[in-house]
Amino acid sequence: MFQNLNKNKEKNDKNLKMMGMSAIVLVVLFVYVLIKSDNAMQSGSYYIGVIFLFILMGLAFALQKYKTKIQAVIPKNKFQEELEKSEVRQEEVPTVNNSTIQAVTSNITFKDVAGISQIKEELEEVVDFLNNPKKYKKYDVSLPKGVLLVGPPGVGKTLIARAVAGETNVPFFYQSGASFVHIYVGMGAKRVKELFNEAKAKAPSIIFIDEIDAVGKARGIGSNDEREATLNELLTQMDGFDGNSGVMVIAATNKIEVLDEALLRAGRFDRRVFLTLPSRNDREEILKLYLKGKKIAFELEKLANDTSGFSSAALATLVNEALLNMIKRDGTTIVDEDIDTAKRKIQFGKKEHYFLSEEEKNILATYQAAKAYISKSKVELFDEGISSKDLIYPSKTQLENQITNNLAGSIGVEVLLNEPYAVFESEIKEAKMKAAAMVEKYDMATSSQNLLQNIKSKLQEKISTNKDEILKLKATLLKDEVVVF
Ligand code: ADP
Repeated sequence: MFQNLNKNKEKNDKNLKMMGMSAIVLVVLFVYVLIKSDNAMQSGSYYIGVIFLFILMGLAFALQKYKTKIQAVIPKNKFQEELEKSEVRQEEVPTVNNSTIQAVTSNITFKDVAGISQIKEELEEVVDFLNNPKKYKKYDVSLPKGVLLVGPPGVGKTLIARAVAGETNVPFFYQSGASFVHIYVGMGAKRVKELFNEAKAKAPSIIFIDEIDAVGKARGIGSNDEREATLNELLTQMDGFDGNSGVMVIAATNKIEVLDEALLRAGRFDRRVFLTLPSRNDREEILKLYLKGKKIAFELEKLANDTSGFSSAALATLVNEALLNMIKRDGTTIVDEDIDTAKRKIQFGKKEHYFLSEEEKNILATYQAAKAYISKSKVELFDEGISSKDLIYPSKTQLENQITNNLAGSIGVEVLLNEPYAVFESEIKEAKMKAAAMVEKYDMATSSQNLLQNIKSKLQEKISTNKDEILKLKATLLKDEVVVF
């Protein structure tokens, strides 16, 4: 703080000296012109000039003296604000020994994470590696340096990263991607370097970068020197330590498709864990966790059914709101009325699918069931459709398969509900784009219209002949909200 004051004082003194020097130079120039001039005394204009010069000097000194008062009256513009903020940030940038990047110890463990058992299993290996590095070193095995958690907001990405830190008892360095974004080129990169230096010094440790897309966007998208410099530093840092150093980088995003390819290459975030909105069973587990030790007089299973589309965070808030309502009416047991009031409160401003009617759910389930049947992959009723990265060198067959998967849902709805419905425009768009690329870029077909029509006809036939199986999948989706192959 005192350092800052001194710095400002030095700056002011410098300004004053500059002003003084300029005034002296002006006076010398003026006197020189006066002496050299023949008709100096004929017109009074020189005297007016001298007076004007002194007025200017007086004004400058007055401005300097009352600078702070004047600044308080004039509203700051955006640039000034940014500049001041970045000056503060600049001063905050740590040195290795005096770092503002601090590790925390996490008291959260896997016990605090309900449901999502598959995700926990995937991360148990990481926990074991950090707890027993010798076991792995003996066989020269190194684990991925980076784990990328992909999923919509509120599904527990941060919670699970903190649980990994808690299970391993190692220092946890939390940074949000946005904290690396500065206006001065090089500042973000410096912060990334500091973060990795600190983590390496305290290894074994975990670095968690939330919303990594803020800094890891593909280079070239809305090009920005500062962001690119930061991203380059992140890539360099991830290359700069070996898998056995004990530093594990976990990052979270809900937009994997915008991330720079280089981040996903081997040796960086090569392990990816996809989280989705909790399924019906997960919701029951999460509700049980938050209601542990509380008296309830409502049907928990029914609440788990009725909260489809809620994120885990929304469920935690729901229980909290219900408890608040119970306390407000001086009760000691949570009853239906508390749940209803809480639901009404948190449903405002939430996504539309919280309010889907039975008919709308039926359309969505038909769409997703057909998609699941054709793609033979796990599909969820409220799948937000996180697009995974495309193959680098797809064959013609692979591209046709991708288009088939994109169109399966809409053709399924058309065949099974007897007319087309407008569901997920993005999938149709993607199919059209891929077909166009096959024709224009890769010369794999002559007409994208014919290509799409061909795929659609095949889908119509396959879906009609396997109607019963798809309807079974639809029933499972409506019940469990997820089908897994
Ligand atoms: P994200 O990082 O995906 O946006 P968070 O990890 O910040 O989500 O989750 C927000 C909150 O939701 C957590 O603090 C926790 O209270 C609750 N939560 C999320 N997932 C779970 C879960 N699986 N079990 C219990 N609580 C959860």
